[in-house]
Amino acid sequence: MTNAERLKVLTGDITAQEVDAIVNAANTSLLGGGGVDGAIHSAAGPGLLEECRSLGGCGYGEAKATAGYELPARHVIHTVGPVYGQHQGQEPGILAACYRNSLALAEELDASSIAFPSISTGVYGYPKKEAAGIAVETLREYFQAHPDSRLADVRLVAFSEADAQIISACLL
Ligand code: ADP
Repeated sequence: MTNAERLKVLTGDITAQEVDAIVNAANTSLLGGGGVDGAIHSAAGPGLLEECRSLGGCGYGEAKATAGYELPARHVIHTVGPVYGQHQGQEPGILAACYRNSLALAEELDASSIAFPSISTGVYGYPKKEAAGIAVETLREYFQAHPDSRLADVRLVAFSEADAQIISACLL
């Protein structure tokens, strides 16, 4: 299967995605926040927060999984993106680690479909073009290294048409 077949960009609300796993751009507490994190918690219901409390937080670039509760997705993979300008130049590596670690966890969960938001590009301030470039490059490298991956449906979910165009430009 080629990267072109696996990787798709779409515009919409990640909480509505009917996939095995959606990725949450969480914060280190994993106790909920604004943006996509708030939307995921409110769509999933209180069970999600309860499970998150048992996880003991999450480091930058790491990923932890929970159930999806009332979401159409069976699992939520929580990852913590870098806060732009706060990691002494390590931001690109941390952002790439978010994508790689989320994919690795999705494989452990036997997922064949996964949806990513544009991690760190909201409150965490990562410039959107740079973040999209890292996201696309990291996904491509991952599937080049794992050609037999079961992950056949990998969605990059943009929250606006303008954001979708930025990501699509990186996929060309
Ligand atoms: P971060 O703290 O990692 O920057 P944010 O949630 O503030 O996380 O923003 C990450 C990205 O998620 C932004 O591009 C924002 O527009 C987008 N976003 C916000 N809500 C949703 C949603 N319901 N579905 C998909 N993307 C969303």
